[in-house]
Amino acid sequence: MTQRIQSIVIVGGGTAGWLTAGIIAARHQGRMKAGFTVTLVESPNVPIIGVGEGTWPTLRSTLQKMGVSETDFFRRCDAAFKQGAKFAKWTTGADDDAYYHPLMLPQGFTQLNLVPHWLNEHSGRTFCETVTPQGQLCDDGLAPKMITTPEYQALANYAYHLDAGKFSTFLAQHCTTKLGVRHVLADVTTVNQSQTGDIRRVDTRQAGEIPGDLFIDCTGFSALLLGKTLGVPFKDCSDVLLCDAALAVQVPYECSDAPMASHTISTAQSAGWIWDIGLPTRRGTGYVYSTRHTTDDQAHETLMRYLGPQHSNLTPRKIAIRGGHREIFWKKNCVAVGLAAGFLEPLEASAIVLIELSAKLISEQMPANREVMDIVSARFNEVTGYRWGRIIDFLKLHYVLTKRRDSTFWRDNVDPATIPERLKNLIHLWKYQSPWFFDEFDRLEEVFPAASYQYVLYGMDFRTEVEAADCTATQSAASKLINDNLAMTRRLRSQLPKNRDLINKIAQYGLQPI
Ligand SMILES: Cc1cc2nc3c(=O)[nH]c(=O)nc-3n(C[C@H](O)[C@H](O)[C@H](O)COP(=O)(O)OP(=O)(O)OC[C@H]3O[C@@H](n4cnc5c(N)ncnc54)[C@H](O)[C@@H]3O)c2cc1C
Repeated sequence: MTQRIQSIVIVGGGTAGWLTAGIIAARHQGRMKAGFTVTLVESPNVPIIGVGEGTWPTLRSTLQKMGVSETDFFRRCDAAFKQGAKFAKWTTGADDDAYYHPLMLPQGFTQLNLVPHWLNEHSGRTFCETVTPQGQLCDDGLAPKMITTPEYQALANYAYHLDAGKFSTFLAQHCTTKLGVRHVLADVTTVNQSQTGDIRRVDTRQAGEIPGDLFIDCTGFSALLLGKTLGVPFKDCSDVLLCDAALAVQVPYECSDAPMASHTISTAQSAGWIWDIGLPTRRGTGYVYSTRHTTDDQAHETLMRYLGPQHSNLTPRKIAIRGGHREIFWKKNCVAVGLAAGFLEPLEASAIVLIELSAKLISEQMPANREVMDIVSARFNEVTGYRWGRIIDFLKLHYVLTKRRDSTFWRDNVDPATIPERLKNLIHLWKYQSPWFFDEFDRLEEVFPAASYQYVLYGMDFRTEVEAADCTATQSAASKLINDNLAMTRRLRSQLPKNRDLINKIAQYGLQPI
């Protein structure tokens, strides 16, 4: 039982496998000289899922800590900036119905809650434009920094859009050449357990037996280790989040210098929503829909109508998606990360950020030996279970707030039976006080902080009753923050380059390394 944890075996070479390998290897470089090993086994026959193009700003610090050059990343992963998401037709379905969930916190967020002031002010400005410049930067098609802003630093907070296939290849090269990760291309055929139920080794078709102390299941939807071998059940959440299929397709630009949005566009449809992500060389798009509310043929038609007749030659790929997650994520000496742990519709690009957070927790809490592993795994299960629950609530919030009743999909989505109790209670509470800093979002590294709830609630016309008297004491501080935001918006709009222009410049000259 006191055997030291020295040999980490990751099965799966998609975004989850390589990010996990890189995060662990970078964190434990010192130990690697003393026999600590990270091995990644990847099937040469089972392709990676190859979608997953929207990320969170956490990826900046993740890549930086792995020693990745941001310039190389932009150049080799067809990467671009992401400053948030624009949700179109989610509230009423009208043509002018749209709001932003930006990545910058509201001005002065940690000092003062601006929601009551905005509600009281009746300025005619949206909540987003009152508290942050980022929606307007997106409207103007601007980048979040300048060519002189060093790598990973920002003038406006940003994440990335990227090509998932290129990202895995890039990470594989970085992890094997710079971080000492051992890469084995082989199919795992058998997972071999000891009498205690721990995994002793994986047996492969091409590379023999691979023993390990800790196994990380990154085998995607198949969940070969945690699900199939250790039998951890899947907790389905399709009663809350109704979409269960996606049609994905890559769309060429009309010309190489076509404008490129620096935000994800999510446009609601009658049975789901379409994502639209601008990469430097193409767009990535897809329709996420509910097969209980539309047929595959109708979904295909909807997506093709969105793309326009000039793209009628494209053939979307159908991906069945099952919303939910494993009941626990770490059992015995095996922990699942990525799709093997679970999947939720990609409405807020929450999968890759969860991979980063999980891998970070594993690497920070790496058990010294088998004896203490169960203590660490209990903690990991508690934190990770909490995160999945909060993400489900946050995604459902987008559906619950809609005023659309134009199809059974939208009507079914507001059925109280589909809304988690915790979310129902919060929405009730938020009629009288707005979400803020202290409002149950008190964990370190909350995936969606209270600011995200503010942007979605007030973007979707939710109203909190506030009394003017509540604002009196903080009125002048609030006015200053709102004016600061207006000044910052003016400054950034005059200073920042167009999104595509900066991407072209990065390709040509690179960003300054830190
Ligand atoms: C339609 C759609 C859109 C999405 N959009 C987003 C988004 O915008 N943002 C976001 O954060 N996430 C998104 N996701 C989720 C994201 O794609 C995944 O979380 C991410 O790609 C991680 O996948 P993975 O590495 O877990 O699995 P995969 O990419 O499926 O990799 C599985 C790996 O396991 C290996 N493997 C399987 N079986 C074996 C075996 N027997 N032996 C050896 N190796 C094996 C395979 O070879 C492969 O390398 C989206 C998902 C879908 C379905």
